[in-house]
Amino acid sequence: MRRFLPTALAVSLVAAGAWMGVGAASGRAVEAGMLPVQFAVPAEVVSVEELRPGQTLGELLEGARMSLAEQRAVLLSFSEHASARRMRDGTEIVLKRRRDDGSLRAVDIELSPDETVRIVRSDGGWRSQLVETPVWVDTVFAAGTITDVLWNAVDGNAALGSMTTGDRAQLIHRLDQVFQWQVDFSRQIQEGDFYRFAFERVVRPDGSMRSAMLLAAELVNSGTAIQAIYFDPSGDGEGSYFDGDGLSVRRAFLTKPLEFRRISSRFSSGRFHPILQRWRAHRGIDYAADRGTPIMATADGTVLRRGRLGQLGNAIELRHGNGFTTRYGHMSRFASGINVGDRVTQGQVIGYVGMTGLATGPHLHYEMHRGGRALDPLAVDLPAGDPVPEEAWDIWQTSRAAHLALIEQLPREAPPTIADLTDEEAQALNERVRTEGGT
Ligand SMILES: [Zn+2]
Repeated sequence: MRRFLPTALAVSLVAAGAWMGVGAASGRAVEAGMLPVQFAVPAEVVSVEELRPGQTLGELLEGARMSLAEQRAVLLSFSEHASARRMRDGTEIVLKRRRDDGSLRAVDIELSPDETVRIVRSDGGWRSQLVETPVWVDTVFAAGTITDVLWNAVDGNAALGSMTTGDRAQLIHRLDQVFQWQVDFSRQIQEGDFYRFAFERVVRPDGSMRSAMLLAAELVNSGTAIQAIYFDPSGDGEGSYFDGDGLSVRRAFLTKPLEFRRISSRFSSGRFHPILQRWRAHRGIDYAADRGTPIMATADGTVLRRGRLGQLGNAIELRHGNGFTTRYGHMSRFASGINVGDRVTQGQVIGYVGMTGLATGPHLHYEMHRGGRALDPLAVDLPAGDPVPEEAWDIWQTSRAAHLALIEQLPREAPPTIADLTDEEAQALNERVRTEGGT
């Protein structure tokens, strides 16, 4: 894969109380060079066609001033890389013709934002190749205050405005995943909470993001700073997140078995039951969610029970380490391939929200037990994941320092707006991020 590094390093200061800088990623070979600029009349005429709904590639080529032999050759070359029968509507097809006689010289067919089949006429006929879209890697920094929910704070961060909505959503999802054990973003965010993070992203020429990796993030929640630092001791891309002391941010249990949910009833020793019309204890948490919402195993474990379980309707019970069990009720259906005795992993979908058994509406009833005693899942102190292994401690310290430096250059309080800075100050800040931004 060819990688381009951006030549422009910039800090944009914006009036919305958030800022970001884009710096070159570290430790990568920089290939920079300029070709002499030349002006010439292009030798070819380029036209761009789009596959209409229901239209085949063959039909499109038929209507594009080509001989039958050319059409066959292009289709044949294309089929070496992909199936002409399975193409998306809207697929872009670029036709390049010679300026002098209008004959077809090359065809580019976009398979995905990352891959294009390029078919070029050569002396002996047609040749095709799969071309990977060139990408570059950069590091993006962002910081801001959270006034209501993380989503609005990050999505509304003007410094990330150049990213697509989908890319921003992906980023927010990562933050939510990384901090899920420390903070419940739907309940615990206080006004004035602050975030700052740095992530490395792979960007296509059109500015869309192919992937992003959160390098370091900090959330100041009710005055307490929580950090998550990426560490990958084996360098295989399968690293995870640790706090500043090298302790895993992961817990053996997810704090919630659903991604999108609203708590409709908490754990209590006595509540008035809406259907039974009498007071009784509620030994679990109810999460209101749409029917069909996926339900995840909150920890690695084994399926102990799966089936009708009295008032819980379709339910699953899992056995975990250290004497813990969890129970999930009122499911509309079970995930396929989940049977008694099967192993499940944390986050694996085991079933879907429904209202089987005794339920007034679609919701998940979730219970946690240990040694036969019901626990409040929201109050229990969950066992942690493994810390940084001892033999990797030296590399961890170096890696931690480098990653923390990325976010520590960002202000913890609301940053200055562009109007507050003189040109020299803006220049100096720009320079500082440029020189310190990459490690
Ligand atoms: Zn319940």
